[in-house]
Amino acid sequence: MTRENEYLTDKQINELKEHLMASKEEIVNKQINQGDYCLDRNELSDPLDEASINVQTSHQLRFRNRELFYLKKISKSLMKLDDGTYGLCEDCGVEIGFERLMARPTAELCISCKEESELTEKNNVFHKRSKSLGKTLSEIGKR
Ligand SMILES: [Zn+2]
Repeated sequence: MTRENEYLTDKQINELKEHLMASKEEIVNKQINQGDYCLDRNELSDPLDEASINVQTSHQLRFRNRELFYLKKISKSLMKLDDGTYGLCEDCGVEIGFERLMARPTAELCISCKEESELTEKNNVFHKRSKSLGKTLSEIGKR
């Protein structure tokens, strides 16, 4: 298996795959443990404690949703590893880079596209500001 513009070596791909699998396993194990924990608490049900259990459960649910979201991203990355599109920017198709992938194995954008998308957000804010600034300028012009 040799691709002409291969930039991730098989060794690097294996390393990233292990990284992703380990994160996945960690989350799955945590989910199982949390499930057991919830059951235990319900068995020991104490009416005075119910309110605090509810608060805890909603915290856990929020945390769990975030983990499930991350889990989906990991599965997507693993699928991309299999079909050979992993590590390429979803926006411009450029190579994301091994170091960035090791730091964020679920990264879908290269650094410049990521920066650009953040800049666009800032520009939108600036656009709103410059509109009101334009109004002030035209009012100054009237004087
Ligand atoms: Zn890009």
